[in-house]
Amino acid sequence: MQRTLSLLAIGVCANALISLSASAQAAPEVTLTRLDCGTSAAPTEVNLRFSDTYAYGGLKVQLVFSCYLIKHGDDYLVWDSGQPMSAGAVAPKTSLVDLLAQVKVKPEQVKYVGISHYHGDHIGQVDSLPKSTLLIGKGDWDVLTAPKPTAGANAAPFANWISGGGNVEPVLLDKDVFGDGTVIMLNTPGHTPGHHGLLVKLKETGNVLLSGDLAHFHENYESSGVPTFNTDRAATVASIDRFKKIAANLKATVIIQHDARDLGKLPAFPASAK
Ligand SMILES: [Zn+2]
Repeated sequence: MQRTLSLLAIGVCANALISLSASAQAAPEVTLTRLDCGTSAAPTEVNLRFSDTYAYGGLKVQLVFSCYLIKHGDDYLVWDSGQPMSAGAVAPKTSLVDLLAQVKVKPEQVKYVGISHYHGDHIGQVDSLPKSTLLIGKGDWDVLTAPKPTAGANAAPFANWISGGGNVEPVLLDKDVFGDGTVIMLNTPGHTPGHHGLLVKLKETGNVLLSGDLAHFHENYESSGVPTFNTDRAATVASIDRFKKIAANLKATVIIQHDARDLGKLPAFPASAK
């Protein structure tokens, strides 16, 4: 009798577990949309700045500027904020806020703005999302809030958060943005001290990895090449190694944010990958 009761109890527990995992599977829908966040210049001779080993001779690569909108149920994350509208020839043709309006998203619906790193072509319009919680690598946040930010780190667009006017979460390691494992900021330092990439798990498309500036173009990603202006060479190489292993283990699509050859990996705006 005792034995029957405990078997029954195990059965009840198992049922509870099954219904728990069923509700976990009914997670909110996640979609990923690319936003064009700058106007491309002519193809760039990458040997000049993007290889500290002079690897590429006269190779020229077409670079682009990408931001992304991630929908998670009723919440939104904007990943990177592109060039500022004041960037002259490389300024976006349409502002981030106007692009969001085209897909019927208001700035106040954007719960998080995630920044891969502090360079100007990734932070240019962050100040147009002042109500969003800022997610940024702690290493980068420490630079931005230092009395004298290092060269290449422009604190001005972050004034809203630095002054305490907006919520900020400096991210030390990885961050599970929505708490259900679908969208994860990946600690990949080296390009800057707090650089992060982003993993997005989509139901139909599968796993997608957004590079930030872990690499700017395919050749550097494939050969673990390092630009001359990265803050830590060894960390960059280790981060690329980690990213490649995640890509292999999760069978993820890797999108190098600046490489025009990766534009076709996501549907063209305003369509989204699901
Ligand atoms: Zn950069």
